[in-house]
Amino acid sequence: MEELAKTATKRSRNSAGSRAADAGNASVAVRTKEEIEFLTDDEYEALSEEEFLAAQRVLLESERQVYTSQAEMFKEEAATLARESEPGDVQFDEESGEGGNSTMERERDLALLASHLATVSEIDSALEKIQAGTYGICENCKAEIPRIRMRALPYARLCVKCKSGGLTRR
Ligand SMILES: [Zn+2]
Repeated sequence: MEELAKTATKRSRNSAGSRAADAGNASVAVRTKEEIEFLTDDEYEALSEEEFLAAQRVLLESERQVYTSQAEMFKEEAATLARESEPGDVQFDEESGEGGNSTMERERDLALLASHLATVSEIDSALEKIQAGTYGICENCKAEIPRIRMRALPYARLCVKCKSGGLTRR
């Protein structure tokens, strides 16, 4: 991981980059999520490319953890609801209407599970881009996406202009 991050940094057009990368391990101390969140947008803009990527990776990994554990929760809940609505309970369910409710709840859980898993895979592809040195580049117009947007949505694929779609879709 470390090696790949350095490679990605060297590929960026920071001319002082290679010297800084050698000397710079101390300044690229891995920050905690709290430290990163504490930075102002100006401070975020002022980070070196290497620091920026390191910070984004922390954000991505932390979001990945949240989405993964929530996905797990929805999966278990859906499985529990499926067990509860097994044929044995049917008579009771007909009277109380709970059968219908738990089917709906289960469908809701499955939908949430799917959307959380989709987000996890977005996050994974953003992490891959950090390694490949293509992170923060709009997939459509290839422009650099502003750091403030990447900070707010670390797995953004598109710049705001392409996201809103006017230019490409019509
Ligand atoms: Zn774009």
